[in-house]
Amino acid sequence: MIKIITKNPQETQKIGRILAQELLKSNLKNEQALVIGLEGDLGGGKTTFVQGVAQGLGIKEQITSPSFVLIKKYRIRFGVADESLRPNANFRSLFHIDCYRLNKPQELLELDFEEIIKNSKNLVVIEWAEKVKEILPKDTLILQFKFINENKRSIIMNNE
Ligand code: ADP
Ligand code: MG
Repeated sequence: MIKIITKNPQETQKIGRILAQELLKSNLKNEQALVIGLEGDLGGGKTTFVQGVAQGLGIKEQITSPSFVLIKKYRIRFGVADESLRPNANFRSLFHIDCYRLNKPQELLELDFEEIIKNSKNLVVIEWAEKVKEILPKDTLILQFKFINENKRSIIMNNE
């Protein structure tokens, strides 16, 4: 188990940024999309974390919570700043999914979720992943977010 405490939103973004950069560097040979499930408290820092992931992928657009549209797609272009990452960068799109307002997993399947998670060029980050557990790939990387106090959050990764 890995547990990280962050003391402000910037630190949480930094964790997301580092994870994205490590994934790019690791030269994964994934045959399907890489799926990261974010669980835990409202206000726990899940959307903040995704902002960091997007930064790490060189995405310049502003990342806001997709709780109403459910799914947002961002192209990964690898601009000048990310040139060094290019050789290993297999990912082409970031999908940011928020299941907060979802009543049942079926609603996500109706939005072509299965197609999205099939494509190895997709990095898929899902907020409120606990609500759609039964339709997530078995190898989904789960991160748990906890609200500790006003500015402290914990991020836990169980990598058994
Ligand atoms: P969630 O998506 O899990 O509901 P958000 O990322 O939308 O959470 O919101 C987290 C809120 O908490 C933001 O307003 C952010 O500024 C604030 N915050 C304060 N401290 C932290 C921290 N250490 N990490 C992340 N967010 C923090
Ligand atoms: Mg959120």
